[in-house]
Amino acid sequence: MLRKISIDEKICVKCGACVSESEFGGIKFKNGKIFVDESKKESWEEIISICPTGAIKFSSED
Ligand code: SF4
Repeated sequence: MLRKISIDEKICVKCGACVSESEFGGIKFKNGKIFVDESKKESWEEIISICPTGAIKFSSED
């Protein structure tokens, strides 16, 4: 099962920490927006824990 990642645009401060933590292109910053590709093999827990505002979360959707 693919876990969905959600980013709360309202609390994301575009610091880029998640982008730097992403090793395989799972998170990209483009046109002022953060894009997530959950199919990439990232350490999602790490990425989620590094976000200073808690904007990234696993969503409960399955
Ligand atoms: S680490 Fe969090 S606040 Fe920073 S760009 Fe990523 S989602 Fe936004």
